[in-house]
Amino acid sequence: MSDYTLDTIVGWAKRKGFVYQWSSIYWWLANAWDYWPYWSQLRKNILDARWQFFVQEQANIHWLEGAILMHPKVWEASWHVGGFNDPLVDDKKTGERFRADKLIEDRIEEQRSQRTDKEILDYYATTYQVNNLTPDSWTLEQQHAFLVGEKVKNPKSKKEADWTDVRKFSLMMSTKLWVIDSESNKVWMRPETAQAMFVNFKNVIDTTRAKLPFWLAQVGKAFRNEITPGNFLFRTREFEQMEIQMFLPSELSEEQFTTFQKMSWEFWEKRIGITPEKLRNRDHDDDELAHYCKQARDFEYKFPRGRWELQWIHDRTDFDVKAHQEYSWQNMMYSDPHTGDRFIPHVVELSMGLSRTVVTVMLDAYDEETYTDSNGKEQTRIVVRFHPSVAPVKCAILPLIKKDEKQVEIAHELFAKLTKTMTCEYDEWWAIGKRYRRQDEIGTPYCITIDHQTLDDQTVTIRDRDSMEQKRVALSEITDYIAL
Ligand code: ATP
Repeated sequence: MSDYTLDTIVGWAKRKGFVYQWSSIYWWLANAWDYWPYWSQLRKNILDARWQFFVQEQANIHWLEGAILMHPKVWEASWHVGGFNDPLVDDKKTGERFRADKLIEDRIEEQRSQRTDKEILDYYATTYQVNNLTPDSWTLEQQHAFLVGEKVKNPKSKKEADWTDVRKFSLMMSTKLWVIDSESNKVWMRPETAQAMFVNFKNVIDTTRAKLPFWLAQVGKAFRNEITPGNFLFRTREFEQMEIQMFLPSELSEEQFTTFQKMSWEFWEKRIGITPEKLRNRDHDDDELAHYCKQARDFEYKFPRGRWELQWIHDRTDFDVKAHQEYSWQNMMYSDPHTGDRFIPHVVELSMGLSRTVVTVMLDAYDEETYTDSNGKEQTRIVVRFHPSVAPVKCAILPLIKKDEKQVEIAHELFAKLTKTMTCEYDEWWAIGKRYRRQDEIGTPYCITIDHQTLDDQTVTIRDRDSMEQKRVALSEITDYIAL
């Protein structure tokens, strides 16, 4: 199981064409990125895996694409306007700005290596009068008292800080619609994709044969004015979410909650290959729950700097649809075709960050390995052990001798054949060992080499990325051999 720092992953991702610094030919903004060839393919593969598992393989689910700019009333009904805030604190010594709750979470995480949660909480409860270890549920005053009382340092300068009061900071980003530049033309850039599904749920019922319970799924960009973007792509201002809303005829049962949890585990572990020992579930304390939420279960991954949220399952009750009915004055009731009962459905949500998932997959797969080569010499290699379903390149096609026209011809034919069903790379440059290394570094599961023997017996070697073993396989059997 690998355990590398985020800096190592950032360096590798930049070197290998996964990400580039945002608008890098001009001056760049820190913690903002452009996504490049291998990232784009990795992202697409993760998205496809999610789509296959949660949409294609399920009955009664519909895929939606809502607009990024929605009617401003949507965000009033959802309580985002005025209510979607993070606690912000400045270090008066340097003028730098941080999220107070994240500073506190980092301190708690540090202390977890020395004391149990109960010991930590007992001490905080008497010193700061808090009753849980989830600082975003504490008052702003409690957060400030903690930062000062625990002498939390400025994480950038690593020096003692002089903290201002903790204040609320709106995460909502806006733009203007129509030609006149006035405040009344302000619209919000969506901070989550979920609302399009609540607003459109009645349209789906009216235009499809959907009956409760049914699910709606969506993928798309969301925008948040994050105070402290960072930790590579873990927290950015512009990111992608993959959200699913399940509309239910009655309150969410414990059994359904467990089913969604199990499905999520299967997706993380089996479909995209995340190391299960690094994943855990965490239930939200009552005073940590969002205002619309009855119960919430996070999926957290053990990142190098702590356990952070990747996805959550949220029991949103009937809050959202009810709120939109109230604000829009439209009838949003579901009418049961069998009983004639009319009611507002309950909703359970699976919300997952796509960009965060891509980073997690990269971090989880990255490895540096020492091995002994065929000459008995010790070598090291970077090998990125992507699950084959998400690897950006599934197989590399390598003619051994570039000058051998026959080898090159066969390699081109093979490339044309395999690329009908998978992403492949053709590479004829440099010694074969170097080419293998290059593929290991971008996580390609298989390398296919066309050599002298291929011309005689129509077989190739297929090298396995993880074991580095090579097997001879007939050209006609390659597709079966590497069935992904
Ligand atoms: P956090 O506590 O990390 O700020 P959150 O609880 O505000 O996250 P949600 O509102 O639950 O996040 O959003 C759902 C999912 O969207 C999260 O689980 C996460 O994967 C992703 N996400 C949220 N904010 C960001 C961001 N700024 N950058 C990348 N992904 C994000």
